[in-house]
Formats: sequence, structure tokens, C-alpha cells
Amino acid sequence: MASTLIADLTWYDFAERVKEDPIVFLPIGSVEQHGPHLPLATDTLLPLAVAQQVADRVGGLVAPPVAYGYKSQPKSGGGNHFPGTLSLDAGVLIGLVRNIVNELVRHGVRRIVLFDGHMENQWFLVEAADLALRDQAMLGRTDVRIVKLGYWEFITKATEKVLFPDGFPSWELEHAAVMETSVMLHIRPDLVREELIPDDPAADFPPYDIYPFDTRPIPPTGVLSSAKAASAAKGEAVLAQVVPDIADALIKAFEAPTS
Ligand SMILES: [Zn+2]
Repeated sequence: MASTLIADLTWYDFAERVKEDPIVFLPIGSVEQHGPHLPLATDTLLPLAVAQQVADRVGGLVAPPVAYGYKSQPKSGGGNHFPGTLSLDAGVLIGLVRNIVNELVRHGVRRIVLFDGHMENQWFLVEAADLALRDQAMLGRTDVRIVKLGYWEFITKATEKVLFPDGFPSWELEHAAVMETSVMLHIRPDLVREELIPDDPAADFPPYDIYPFDTRPIPPTGVLSSAKAASAAKGEAVLAQVVPDIADALIKAFEAPTS
């Protein structure tokens, strides 16, 4: 079967595939600490893998990912101060994603998914989508549609129970914890240092932020809740549920009228 990765195609392949009006996925990740056991690219590797599987189902294409993201926030990513966390200023991320969307549209793509792997990116992806649609409207083009999603938001209550039989902390505290570690154990076990998986208690943050941030509530490993219960089987269960659900949701989202 032909590759779903745009980076693997020739320009001839790309031109042919675009004629079929494919859904094009742009994974957007980060270079961010993910504890002592997961690689810095975790937030890019996960949405890339999920997007590829969804693209296989819907006949879509996956653009080369944006491998950098917005600044890691202490309450959802441990914070920007950890070594190796290489982050973008908001304006750079907005401009980059807006530029890539406009380039895809210039070459005939009309259905685009901003496939987020890093929670901190979300509002800047909204802004990039809004500005790209405004650019296109000013060119008289109103047939472009963009969907923005975070794959973790598709995890159902039933799958949540599989992941966290003893209770779910929160998606913010899930940083480098059970879900991300489990999916990495499933898709890239070669990159997981299983012997170093931490068992930190969940971080306890105050309900306000202070700048410069008080780093004391952040566990020294950078992992915001225990990852001990992670397993490859749980990771497989997550993908078995979210991949078909995202595919179904996208087919509906791109078919439904928006006004
Ligand atoms: Zn992550």
C-alpha cells in the first residue's frame, strides 16, 4: 500500500493523491522532558503514530510533523526549565502552523487536521487555524476546513478505566505517566527505559500561577503522577479505541455543514 507519509512521496505521487481530496494530518508535538524513562520527542512520536493509523483508515496523508511546541507549563508538562525542553514562543508556533496550512491549501489540500500531541499548543493552533482561514478568505477561498484535536480527548470512560483502574488523576497530571508511557511501550518500546519508570505521587499545585513559577511542587523527575501502572497492553487498548473513533469523527466533521 502507498505510504501515508507525505515525506515519503515523490511530487508526482503527491499531485496524484491530492486530486482525491485526502484529509491531511499535521501532527504538532514538542521537544519536552518526559521523565527519566521517555524520550524528549514523546509528544511528537505519539500523535505521528496515531495520525498515521487514522490516515490509513480514511485514505489520508500525514504531513511532516511540527516537532517543536509551545513552552512547557509546570502544571501540564513539568515546566520549561528541564534540560532538553526546547520550546517555541507563541508567535513562532502560530506563524509556522499558519504558513504550513497555507502551503497545503496552495497545493490543493482542502481538509486539514491539526493533530496535537502537546497540551500547551492548543490555543496557538486555534489562532493559526483562524489566521489561515482569514488568509484564504481574503483570497476568495472559502472551501477550506480545519479540524483541531488532541488525540487523548477521544479516550472514552471505558478506556480510562482500563488505564486507571484505581482512579483517574487528570489529563494535565498525566504528563509522562500511565497513558503516554503505555502508548510508547506499544509503539516504540525501544525508546522506553522501563527500569527507570517512576512511581511519583501526583503533584499538588495551588489553584493559581506565580511567575517566575514556584518549582517546588514539581516532582524532581518531571513526571506529574505515577507511571508505574503503564503497560504495552494498555497502550494497545488506547489505540484500538481512539483510532477508529477519531476516523469516524473526522468523516462526520468534514461532511457536516458548518453553517
Ligand atoms: Zn507528553
